[in-house]
Amino acid sequence: MSVFKNYIAGQWLDSDKQIANINPSDIDDTIGFYASASESQFNLAIDSAQQAFDDWQYSGSQQRFDILDFIGTEILSRQNELGELLAREEGKVRSEGIAEVARAGQIFKFFAGEALRSDGQCLPSVRPGVKAEVTREPVGTIGVITPWNFPIAIPAWKIAPALCYGNCVLFKPSELVPASAWALTEIISRSGLPSGVFNLLVGEASVVGESILCHEQVDAVTFTGSVETGNHVLKTLTARGAKAQMEMGGKNPLVILDDANLEQAVECAIQGAFYSTGQRCTASSRLIVTEGIADAFTTAMIERVSQLKVGHALDSSSQIGPLANEMQLKKTERYIQLGKVQGAQLLAGGYRLSRDTPGYYLHPALFTETTPDMSINRDEIFGPVASIIKVKDYGAALEIANDTAFGLSAGICTQSGKMAEDFKRKAQAGMIMVNLPTAGVDYHVPFGGRKRSSYGSREQGHYAREFYTTVKTAYQIF
Ligand code: NAD
Repeated sequence: MSVFKNYIAGQWLDSDKQIANINPSDIDDTIGFYASASESQFNLAIDSAQQAFDDWQYSGSQQRFDILDFIGTEILSRQNELGELLAREEGKVRSEGIAEVARAGQIFKFFAGEALRSDGQCLPSVRPGVKAEVTREPVGTIGVITPWNFPIAIPAWKIAPALCYGNCVLFKPSELVPASAWALTEIISRSGLPSGVFNLLVGEASVVGESILCHEQVDAVTFTGSVETGNHVLKTLTARGAKAQMEMGGKNPLVILDDANLEQAVECAIQGAFYSTGQRCTASSRLIVTEGIADAFTTAMIERVSQLKVGHALDSSSQIGPLANEMQLKKTERYIQLGKVQGAQLLAGGYRLSRDTPGYYLHPALFTETTPDMSINRDEIFGPVASIIKVKDYGAALEIANDTAFGLSAGICTQSGKMAEDFKRKAQAGMIMVNLPTAGVDYHVPFGGRKRSSYGSREQGHYAREFYTTVKTAYQIF
């Protein structure tokens, strides 16, 4: 089987060590072996990025537009092929894989346009005869560290703005999903970017990850991953004064009020909690339901959860794929067990499934009789598990929705405009959804959360420039 190499200083480089990429829908299927970058290869990448930055930072906006537009166009034209590859390595179903690839293409197209929309200010100084100019400049070399659950969209929403604003990139994808990262890199390598501007470093967290965090010449790091890793990343970066942007976990509430449209609420809950196998930072894991609708909602949910079709990611009848790896499966099972031990009632799912091919299949789990203090309602499980929390009224629902260490996304199902407005104002989260699933966002508006979910400025849309640029103020006598 061929080895997929890293892309460093404009060259494809093999390594002594390789990482096997295993299909979670069929663990007998090895997608490929991916070179694991060494420390000396990291050093080559950082040196080449630094050299490339000398010119790239002054590149014209037309050049940046052309490059980003080329990448976006090719991704979009190959969305079926790349979506299938993504589904094969991560385990989300094919349609979700294709949609994610399309999203990545749209993101590159959006930032191609952003390259032409650079802005600044020229204004009179408070001193007569002097003018002040406020401009934005690239930050330098950016470390991009990404998780496995969105193998191409998250890299896209970090790499595209980094290049758009004139930065160089060291990209370390999750070791679990190197195929999408490699495919994206292969496209980038043909886009006309000067050598060294973009480097792919598939490799171990302890080697490549730590080098990105600790190297003085990495000016900024954008990280998406777990809170645990995020804490370490932030501590290391702040200790050496590097710029940091972090997107971490979630424990997102979906509030369902008595006046909700039942069918719509169930759809939001099923979609938000279980699609992508619940492995989304924006998944609705806490379904907070007021008592007037609780019984009808619970009955409808049991029926829907029982009917969910779990299977091979590439089987067109599958609605839910496997968990991404054995560790995720075991972690999810541990929490299901903990839920039962702490007194929650498992109403549907929560058991392993066997399919034609050996994979990490689990039927999504639905709990009732849960209280806000239970581990299943406090910790991010990152699997297909949702709990119903029954409450008296909207006031209690809001209080419980906000009673969490996280603050990424929060949703409400109601037909009352007044309640929806109140929730939009008072829910402590970066993104609010009204009669929509907590997961599923646009790419042209800010993405991010509060509390332990996020740190630093927002990602995506025009707001992304905050992280990828640094502001300069110049004064001049005229
Ligand atoms: P993770 O923290 O294990 O790994 C994330 C990345 O960090 C990987 O590339 C990993 O190799 C790297 N890494 C690990 N240790 C490192 C170290 N010491 N130094 C440098 N890099 C290191 O997370 P994961 O399991 O890949 O992803 C799941 C997590 O990601 C969940 O908690 C989920 O909520 C979170 N997530 C958050 C968002 C968001 O936008 N808020 C989006 C997607 C996923």
